[in-house]
Amino acid sequence: MQGYILPLEKLIEQFERLPGIGHKTAVRLAFSILEGSEEEAQAFAQALLDAKQKIVRCKICQNISDAEICSVCSDPKRDRTMICVVEDSKAVMALERVKEYTGLYHVLHGALSPMDGIGPDQLTIRELIARLTDGEVREILLATNPNIEGETTAVYLSKLMKPLGVRVSRLAYGVPVGGDIDYADEVTLFRAIEGRRDL
Ligand SMILES: [Zn+2]
Repeated sequence: MQGYILPLEKLIEQFERLPGIGHKTAVRLAFSILEGSEEEAQAFAQALLDAKQKIVRCKICQNISDAEICSVCSDPKRDRTMICVVEDSKAVMALERVKEYTGLYHVLHGALSPMDGIGPDQLTIRELIARLTDGEVREILLATNPNIEGETTAVYLSKLMKPLGVRVSRLAYGVPVGGDIDYADEVTLFRAIEGRRDL
């Protein structure tokens, strides 16, 4: 590579694997670790391991959680008649900032993308359908991202779930087309929920 001693080169390589980190930034981050104390490096390494080992998927909504059932699913104050379907956990965090949404979530962990080999079986669609069997859920709000994959997923889910007798709605996006939900501000998201339309 650039002639770094091996342990440093390995550290730079690890930073470079992260999204949005180029070589220069990776070098800067690696050096900042070297310049910090051993305790700081230990805490950093421990946080990485803890994040991987202690975070599981909630058995109900499939969102990341530090318990078998996440804090939203186990909260008795949440409205159990509505499930908001999102692509990832970042979208849940964005929607949770909009205090007006009080329903439950379902995290798909992706969107349909045949070109990338992502079909229904790669997403948590089976788990979603299973949640509709007890008759408590009355509305599914599809909040997949406003791009081709997100729209394809919304149409697919709508066709799948409408025959089950639930209302299926879609966020009314003020979110720029092609953008992700987690980049939308709270006011935009609030309006998107309020103005949701039936599919
Ligand atoms: Zn949950």
